[in-house]
Amino acid sequence: MTIRLFFGNLESMKQELDKAYIPQDNEDKIYKIWEDSGLFNPDNLGLPDSAPSYTIVLPPPNITAKLHIGHSCMLAIEDLLIRYRRMNGYRALWLPGTDHAAIATQMVVEKKIFQETGQTRHDLGREKLLEEVWRFLKSTQATILHQTKKMGSSLDWSRVAFTFDQERQVAVNRMFVDMYREGVIYRGERIVNWCPHCHSTLADDEVEYKEQQAKLYTFKYSADFPISISTTRPETKLGDTAVAVNPKDERYKDYIGKEYDVDFCGQALHIKIIADRNVESDFGTGALGVTPAHSMVDWQMAQANNLPVIKVIDEDGLIHDGFGKYSRLTAEAARQLVIEELRGRNLMEAEDDITNNLSVCYRCDTPIEPLPSKQWFVGVDVKLDRLGGKSLKEKALEAAQTKAIEFIPERFNKRYQDWMENLHDWCISRQIWFGHGIPVWYKGDESYCGESAPEGDGWIKDEDTLDTWFSSGMWTFSTLGWPDNYKGGVKSGDLAKFHPTQILETGYEILTLWVSRMVMMSFFALGEIPFEKVYLHGTILDAKGKKMSKSKGNGVDPLDAISEYGADALRLSLLMGSTPGNDSRYSAEKIEAKRNFINKLWNISRYILSTINPETNLQSDEIPIAKTLADRWILSELISTRISIKTRLENFEFSLAAEELTDFTWNKLADWYLEIAKIEKDKDAILVYLLKNILIMWHPFIPYVTETIWAQLEDGLLLVRQWTQDENFVPDAEAVEQINSLQEIIISIRNARSENKIEPGRKIKALIHGQESFLTESVELIKGLKTGLSDLEIESAGDIPVNSIAIATSHLDIYLLDAVDAEKEKARLLKEKENLEKVIANLKTRLSNEEFVSRAPENIVKTETEKLNGYLLELDKINKLIV
Ligand SMILES: [Zn+2]
Repeated sequence: MTIRLFFGNLESMKQELDKAYIPQDNEDKIYKIWEDSGLFNPDNLGLPDSAPSYTIVLPPPNITAKLHIGHSCMLAIEDLLIRYRRMNGYRALWLPGTDHAAIATQMVVEKKIFQETGQTRHDLGREKLLEEVWRFLKSTQATILHQTKKMGSSLDWSRVAFTFDQERQVAVNRMFVDMYREGVIYRGERIVNWCPHCHSTLADDEVEYKEQQAKLYTFKYSADFPISISTTRPETKLGDTAVAVNPKDERYKDYIGKEYDVDFCGQALHIKIIADRNVESDFGTGALGVTPAHSMVDWQMAQANNLPVIKVIDEDGLIHDGFGKYSRLTAEAARQLVIEELRGRNLMEAEDDITNNLSVCYRCDTPIEPLPSKQWFVGVDVKLDRLGGKSLKEKALEAAQTKAIEFIPERFNKRYQDWMENLHDWCISRQIWFGHGIPVWYKGDESYCGESAPEGDGWIKDEDTLDTWFSSGMWTFSTLGWPDNYKGGVKSGDLAKFHPTQILETGYEILTLWVSRMVMMSFFALGEIPFEKVYLHGTILDAKGKKMSKSKGNGVDPLDAISEYGADALRLSLLMGSTPGNDSRYSAEKIEAKRNFINKLWNISRYILSTINPETNLQSDEIPIAKTLADRWILSELISTRISIKTRLENFEFSLAAEELTDFTWNKLADWYLEIAKIEKDKDAILVYLLKNILIMWHPFIPYVTETIWAQLEDGLLLVRQWTQDENFVPDAEAVEQINSLQEIIISIRNARSENKIEPGRKIKALIHGQESFLTESVELIKGLKTGLSDLEIESAGDIPVNSIAIATSHLDIYLLDAVDAEKEKARLLKEKENLEKVIANLKTRLSNEEFVSRAPENIVKTETEKLNGYLLELDKINKLIV
């Protein structure tokens, strides 16, 4: 065999395959060859203009930590999709990047600094903290990119992006300014979810709920106030401006509209009684103390009723000045004080234990304080000329309703729509230091919004930063050259070639946080969807079905798994057994089994390459000529498999595709055809064709080992080798049926030998009663395929030979002659008869049970009946044998 070169100028791969496949010796080398080839970049694929694009943007991993096994699963799926399309004529672009993850990153760095030096960010100051953040970011970013490459990811590194790099800053500023000018972005005072620990606002879906035991206090503000109220947080009542009751509640009807001045535990309040349909009459006293500054619902009531807003709690979770002895206390301490006052004044009517949901910060678990605050918002209900008079929310809903965006699995369409329908304006400002700045400047009462600072002195930039999802929401188009590639409503360059992207593959847990925002941002910027499909993967759990976590110590470092088993084995173990939207399990046994399969593939390849004539043409792409029944069968099965794999991959059935391919490779090819080839001989062209095609099909799953073997077969990389497109293929049904029949005969003979304890080395004779002519032609195969037959006769029919072991298959009868003594065989048949009669009796009873027949599904009844008929036939045959 001649030495094959990659593109002639790259290092030569070994002339012969090593005895065993050692991933560690090959993977880095192969990845470098791929990278150096430039073929991860679709522009270098040499495709005609008419070639369709297939684009995936990699969900940018947060640069807060190393990648975990869930990321590996995501990489395996996306690489599979992109390699498959690249090998099928698509302009396949998989675009890499990382996410600065503003708040998450700042928290990690702050924590690290505090652990190391005991300093807080306030000790350090803004500039010094940001320096530390960037230093941290550089090192984690490098780790993440290294891990990503180790998985074999065929990402176009020439287009790598970062949500906080120069290009993305330009894009974010432009987006903000455009949205501001069209009235979508506005600044307003709102109740926000405030984390007193992170010192920042949180989006609604960054708030988590924890069940807790709490006390529900029932009391009156003062002795002369007519209505009792209930609350779990009496200290917030220092800011009450109204009491709301249900307008239908007879108890309070007469009070509606009245106003009272009260002395609440030493603080003067002015309370108005208002009616609100949302007040539940049967909760507590049916009357609600309205605290506009510290509850979203109360804020809305205050807006509707023109009530004043009194702020009680500040950004540190302390009571504001101006509340006498309560001022500067923590909310918790103020609560105790208020409770004591109420008890002392004999106003407390009840203290009940209840269970309720506490809102906590998803980052640090601190209870959320709803606070009024000046923040920037994206108005999701603003009607826009550029969207034909529709709002961002309406367009984003429409995309799901019309299925312009398809969700996989489908059930997530509804979840997305439910969330969208309840969407409030999106608060995008964050009170942290690390993140995209807000392109707004202030001078006295003046403000200016623009892509760069205004002329003149004295302008001060807004100190807040943007919610991290604002920049990642633009990911599909900010990475493709927006805004430069978008002029006058016309896309150009990468944006024209690759947007909308074909699929977004991500975890279902960020459907609302990220996916929905990407849809709105894309509609605003480009008036189109960001992706045609959303594939949502599940979580990878440990072998016992538990969530992996650092603290539990059950996590798996992908790099450890790769160094032990190789990236291919890791990929295959993650791809097999994973279905969209469902969690799957990871175990060492599973990855070991995949490594064993990869070794099997390696051995099959070595065997084929070592047996073929060195003069065999390895470059040919023609389907070889079938000379025997087995040739016809294996070629038909190969093409059927190839068509099925294509369909499955296009339907996202990765696991089923890999199972089918495993069956073809291990069972059909290795266990049967290679054994047949040893007998029939002279099959070099077919063997090469089979090997090449299984490598092509396996490549998207296990790219390293397949590329390594491929180097022995063809010039050029398997990475870009095109799949054969099978048009108008008709399976060779006859060959498939006949080979299946032969397999049944062979397996039956093998089983009968072992059941009857015939020594493996002992040659025996056999007789088959059967009609088909292919049997006569296959005598040598049946004898040769580990049946231990010295002689085989085929007769169309005849008497049952005496002293033989009889085997009944579905189509014919096989007799092993002189294999066993007659008494033993008779005893065996009688035993079998007895067993069969029992089974038949049971089935008959079952089928004569009217209740069963009327209740069981029709197909079950049908299968049971068929089973019974089969057993009856078998019994009949056995009865004839027992003479
Ligand atoms: Zn927090």
